[in-house]
Amino acid sequence: MNVLEELKEVLGDRLLTREEDKIPYMRDASYFAGKIPDAVAIPKTSGEISAIMKMCSSFKVPVTIRSGGSSLTGSSVPTHGGILISMSAMNRILAVKPEDSYVIAEPGVRLDDLNRELEKIGFFYPPDPASSMAATVGGTISTNAGGLRASYYGTTKEWVLGVEVVLPNGEIVEFGGKTLKRTKGYDLTALMIGNEGTLGIITRAILKIWPVPEKVGRIISYFTEITDVGRSVSELKKNGIIPYIAEFMDALSMESVRRANGISFPDAARFLLMIDIASTKESISRLLEKAKGIISAFDPVSIDVTLDKDEMAKMYQARKGLYSSSLSLRTDKHQYVVIADLVVPASELPAAFTEIQEMIDKSRLKVMLFGHIGDGNIHGNIFADTRSTEEMEKVDSLQMNLAKIVLSHGGSVSAEHGIGIEKKTLLIEELRERNSEFNLKLMRSIKDNFDPQGLLNRGKIFD
Ligand SMILES: Cc1cc2nc3c(=O)[nH]c(=O)nc-3n(C[C@H](O)[C@H](O)[C@H](O)COP(=O)(O)OP(=O)(O)OC[C@H]3O[C@@H](n4cnc5c(N)ncnc54)[C@H](O)[C@@H]3O)c2cc1C
Repeated sequence: MNVLEELKEVLGDRLLTREEDKIPYMRDASYFAGKIPDAVAIPKTSGEISAIMKMCSSFKVPVTIRSGGSSLTGSSVPTHGGILISMSAMNRILAVKPEDSYVIAEPGVRLDDLNRELEKIGFFYPPDPASSMAATVGGTISTNAGGLRASYYGTTKEWVLGVEVVLPNGEIVEFGGKTLKRTKGYDLTALMIGNEGTLGIITRAILKIWPVPEKVGRIISYFTEITDVGRSVSELKKNGIIPYIAEFMDALSMESVRRANGISFPDAARFLLMIDIASTKESISRLLEKAKGIISAFDPVSIDVTLDKDEMAKMYQARKGLYSSSLSLRTDKHQYVVIADLVVPASELPAAFTEIQEMIDKSRLKVMLFGHIGDGNIHGNIFADTRSTEEMEKVDSLQMNLAKIVLSHGGSVSAEHGIGIEKKTLLIEELRERNSEFNLKLMRSIKDNFDPQGLLNRGKIFD
């Protein structure tokens, strides 16, 4: 028997082999196209995944794991054909324990679905990528996703207590557990976070949950200078105000929101700063006023405070939909969006912004700037015809120049989207710049240890 026949015995009609069923799995949300996988497996249990991995291991078949498919770096694209394992049927919430501050979920649970469930008991799971309607527990752990609330609550790594993992040889193991504390030698749970499906397949996760804040209010301000946006955020933090959400958009971003959502902005506004503050009912107004005072010192074009839930939800959804609305700015159907995912310490934002803007102007590429500015995360949506070698060379050169700028400010080339296929060169540049090439060697030797045949998610993070 060959591997497909053996897999069919385990999965039955949950093994897709028809061309038309497999084609949608060639791509994720990035601009990369992979190979059509030989088959798509849709397991329902860790036992089935273990059986799949044992077969793939004995037949030496490459495996790609895919959950929500919302990766922006090509990390869930099957670059080598083989078997693609879709986690879509492992989407149950297995236990909710607010008294112990955790929830147990299967990897295919979408974050919005998880939070809808937790909301019923006044709790939530803080990691909040803009893609939360599609992104899943497994995918966000594997990329250490950040998102809108990361400046307040940190990224996914702060919220994972334990995971069950199927190793490339089919063995099922557990890392971490249900308690909020533990010291057991090396932190192997951390190794399972951000490895982009290169070391093992997460089949269950124990996640920390938190009570929903009592009250959230918002300050929306508009500026003409990007450096004033950066200064405002730095100054808030210096004064002990850590925003629950701190997002910025440039003029192109606002234009895309206007087109997609019908929201209008002041004429003179070139940059928007949206600051949410979470607190108790008693102190929210005082904190909002204090934050407004700090931001006002930087001469915004206009500034408004609101506690209106509907108004806040409208702009929040518009911000979350920014990637989709940015597509309305394409001038050609062959244009894709390549995303820079830069980060610097908050105090470096004003200086870094000036250099980033100058570099973009010099590149002559159309770039839309926005991001989770509360933790120094700046996204640049670069519009390019990905079929044109000349244009993609310009994009690569811009990405490298932007990388050099953020590295010179103590930042990083990848804040939250991971490395995938796209940022491999930038990762090497960052490690070289920090004299940390040892890290890459160590990552390779960890990979060899977990996956000596190199079956899992080939070509991601490093070649
Ligand atoms: C519109 C839009 C907005 C976005 N906004 C944000 C944002 O604000 N913040 C942010 O951090 N990211 C953001 N992203 C990127 C993306 O949503 C995240 O990287 C997310 O974590 C991917 O989750 P997913 O379930 O879609 O994973 P996938 O795309 O399916 O997979 C991502 C990686 O994880 C691996 N993987 C998936 N499941 C498992 C598993 N069970 N076990 C082992 N490995 C696995 C895959 O092999 C792949 O390497 C955005 C994407 C889009 C399209």
